[in-house]
Amino acid sequence: GPALLFVKTSQGREEGRRFYACSACRDRKDCNFFQWEDEKVSETRLAAREEYNRNHQPSFTHRQNVDRYKNFVLLPLSKRRFCQECQQLLLPAEWENHSGHQFLCNITTVQLKSPSQLLYPLENKKTNAQYLFADRSCKFLLNLLIDLGFRRVLSVGTPRLHEMIQSKASEKEEFSVRSLLLDIDFRYSQFYTEDEFCHYNMFNHHFFGGEAAHETCRKFLHEENGERVIMVTDPPFGGLVEALASSFKKLMSMWRDTEKEGHDNKEMPMFWIFPYFFESRILDFFPSFSMMDYQVDYDNHALYKHGKTGRRQSPVRIFTNLTPSMIVLPEEEGYRFCTICQRYVSSGNQHCEICNSCTSKDGRRWKHCVLCKKCVKPSWFHCSSCNCCTLEKHSCEKTDVGCFVCGKAGHKRSACPSLSHT
Ligand code: SAH
Ligand code: ZN
Ligand code: ZN
Ligand code: ZN
Ligand code: ZN
Repeated sequence: GPALLFVKTSQGREEGRRFYACSACRDRKDCNFFQWEDEKVSETRLAAREEYNRNHQPSFTHRQNVDRYKNFVLLPLSKRRFCQECQQLLLPAEWENHSGHQFLCNITTVQLKSPSQLLYPLENKKTNAQYLFADRSCKFLLNLLIDLGFRRVLSVGTPRLHEMIQSKASEKEEFSVRSLLLDIDFRYSQFYTEDEFCHYNMFNHHFFGGEAAHETCRKFLHEENGERVIMVTDPPFGGLVEALASSFKKLMSMWRDTEKEGHDNKEMPMFWIFPYFFESRILDFFPSFSMMDYQVDYDNHALYKHGKTGRRQSPVRIFTNLTPSMIVLPEEEGYRFCTICQRYVSSGNQHCEICNSCTSKDGRRWKHCVLCKKCVKPSWFHCSSCNCCTLEKHSCEKTDVGCFVCGKAGHKRSACPSLSHT
């Protein structure tokens, strides 16, 4: 799909020529596409690119994978093999081509219904950054959206949530929630039909399946029989918020356009799961959103999961355009309702009388600084030469690299003044 147009900045100033680079891969090692904005590309180079793309297509199309799956489930257990090296379900005639590869044998129906357990997580940080929800968090999300009355979930980069919904739906007839997965990980096309999975890039809103896939998504978003839709997304944290927001707005307008009356100018309900330090960036693009205190935990992320002994703090939160008071957080996991803020907060999050809000972002009790006129992390102190609160250990000279959060020079992400403004 389309590349993104980038510009190098230094000290907040634009510098040099603008260029196009791959939207999905933030590492040149994963995709080396590069083109100056004003560059003339020769016919030969265009042809070479097309040739390269042709040679890098997946070995089967989604349609072929669906047919293969149908044949696969007809096989007796003893003939159901999964090649771990190729990350592919194998039909008996193909075994020979994979001799020397590691197989998983006797693939059960239960395994086929939990592909996120069968496939290895693509953890390479700069492209897929596949971090799977811990069961606890996944169940919490699903129960929450069921309690809120949603019956359709557009799962954008949330394969584990999708799979939990799909397998419940196939087990219990009375379970009426449906899900459509949009993800760039094409391995999932082996397990889901074209109505259940679309190969999609959330950084440029590109449907690899073309108009037919677009139409699948449009149909899914059309709320028939009062079945309300919510979008849940958990993008790679290194992703550009700007690019993501632009795609999500396009998905929102697809939803809006499914209704002739135009949904009375309402927004498609959404949960955007992202670290708390992106709060101000997300609010820049979606002013109607607010950040919930719930800490989302992951299975394969050493930092973001519940330790055996007590809780490791995950920085990952839910951003939503639903009314905060409706998002009920579990008391048994240490959340309480603040009647003044009208939302659930971490038990450690004390209501500050001066700010008139529960100001903690990380679950710890924050303290109010009268000079900064806001609450700050408990470990910070007010530095009179920097004229703001920051870590005790810091050098007062300004840094010249731009801040990761707001892009401005003069401070690092941890000291970003926009972090706690809402
Ligand atoms: N916690 C989620 C997974 C989040 S990891 C769960 O358990 O369901 C990020 C997901 O986004 C992965 O599934 C990854 O394949 C997908 N992804 C990464 N880059 C993407 C892109 N450019 N477009 C669409 N999906 C992408
Ligand atoms: Zn193989
Ligand atoms: Zn305060
Ligand atoms: Zn201060
Ligand atoms: Zn900043």
